[in-house]
Amino acid sequence: MSDYDVIIAGAGISGSLAAAGAAKGGAKVLVLDRNDYSQVGKKTNWGWVCGDAVAKTHIDFIHKEIGLRLTEPVLDISVEGVQVLSPDLTRKFQFEGAGYSLDRPKLARVLIDFAKNSGADYMPHHEVEGPIIEDGKVVGVYGRDEKGAQVKYRSKIVIDTLGIASTIRRKLPQNKYIENTVSTNDIESTGRYICHFDANGSDINYYDKGNALIHLNQQLAPGGYGWVFPKSGNRVNIGLGVEKKSLDIRNAKMNKKDTLHMLIDQYVAWNPVVKNIKIDETDANGKGYWSVTVRRQFDSLVFPGYMGAGDSMAMPNPISAGGIGPAMTAGAIAGKVAAEAVAANDAGIEFLWKYNIRYNEVYGNKTAGLEVFRIYLQSLNNGLINYGMSKFLTKEEAIQISYGNVPEITIANTFTKVLSGLSNINAFKDLIYCVKVMKEMNGLYNNYPKDPRSFDEWKAIVNNRMHEVKERFRPNPI
Ligand SMILES: Cc1cc2nc3c(=O)[nH]c(=O)nc-3n(C[C@H](O)[C@H](O)[C@H](O)COP(=O)(O)OP(=O)(O)OC[C@H]3O[C@@H](n4cnc5c(N)ncnc54)[C@H](O)[C@@H]3O)c2cc1C
Repeated sequence: MSDYDVIIAGAGISGSLAAAGAAKGGAKVLVLDRNDYSQVGKKTNWGWVCGDAVAKTHIDFIHKEIGLRLTEPVLDISVEGVQVLSPDLTRKFQFEGAGYSLDRPKLARVLIDFAKNSGADYMPHHEVEGPIIEDGKVVGVYGRDEKGAQVKYRSKIVIDTLGIASTIRRKLPQNKYIENTVSTNDIESTGRYICHFDANGSDINYYDKGNALIHLNQQLAPGGYGWVFPKSGNRVNIGLGVEKKSLDIRNAKMNKKDTLHMLIDQYVAWNPVVKNIKIDETDANGKGYWSVTVRRQFDSLVFPGYMGAGDSMAMPNPISAGGIGPAMTAGAIAGKVAAEAVAANDAGIEFLWKYNIRYNEVYGNKTAGLEVFRIYLQSLNNGLINYGMSKFLTKEEAIQISYGNVPEITIANTFTKVLSGLSNINAFKDLIYCVKVMKEMNGLYNNYPKDPRSFDEWKAIVNNRMHEVKERFRPNPI
């Protein structure tokens, strides 16, 4: 006997939207989260650790898909787009379209209110410890209530929206659909400050009120990037992410022992415009560190009685680490499909598969290609990135890649790009290979298995190609 139709574990972005979607679809929904209402959606003791930037297209999607219109003050300020700068700052590509800087704590409270108003029950102060599994399917969750007492809740479907460290996903029985863990090579260690600052002059390569800035720089942020995202008032969200292996190589070659925390402080000090920073203590959300995945989402997002959305399924965009949009998109879709499964009285994997297909159509079909591009990018040092951003790609081609589309780049059509230097020419040949595999990946994901029966064969091809890419491109920051 089930207590609920659908249990949503974790009331972050993906969880609250999944709850709203399922409740609107007529399901009896319970949302469990470890924090109280004022701290709902908080990822860790460090706060709602995030760059807070999201593209307008994602905000528009949830309005259309689920009827939620976000406005100020959740949408703190708007920006024209994301500018990606080369290490020497001479080259700038405009990625993504218009977007917003969000107030994450306020966003989380608006989202859980939306879920409650849509009919979901919400229980804060509940620590979810794992799934209840019976006869090979998930039938609920266990954990602890606010007094520390063991609790169990049963449901027809559990939606796992616990974030990157999900205690449910990690405890699923080993299976071919959902991976229990994410490789450390596919994780960025990240941190950021939200702070007030005094502007020391103006230079839009370092701070641009109208744009989110990303600094590619393998010495400052090995295997990742630094960011300066404007916020309202004289405030900024400034931080960086690194990949562990790249950081180790960079430290060894530079004879340094820099940690993530030290690199963030060095990055802030490097910026000549953002000066005299003072941490913004609002909601105790000014300084924080956390991890984010930069791979394609798990090849399947469902298991019998189980669906996953957001960071629990490694959904952030592999090149930008933007996970807010995917979490919103997946949450809204997962909730809807769960309600349909409840109405059909079928929580089996065949029925839930339509969530895989829908997510893939709306967003997921480009992420494997972007993962390939991310792995390629991590194999380039600063000199090659500088050179590549001026010679390999036109701005239009770079924009195409950021959207997950693959431009036509072949030796034959690049005779106009006069290249010099052996390592530059090799890096360009690597780019041609990378673009070829990206195209293949897009093709594979555009032919995502229509049902679980053809999954094994499809997954083996994806894994093989990705393995080849990882063998060819090794992190090489310096
Ligand atoms: C430093 C950093 C910068 C980033 N910058 C950006 C950016 O600028 N733009 C962007 O789009 N994305 C960014 N991301 C990624 C983005 O923040 C995430 O993708 C997004 O928060 C995912 O939402 P989610 O709901 O899936 O998971 P989460 O936000 O992690 O929410 C999980 C929820 O589950 C709860 N929970 C977890 N475990 C338990 C448990 N055991 N029991 C009960 N409750 C639990 C948590 O308290 C939380 O409420 C960044 C990430 C980091 C770390």
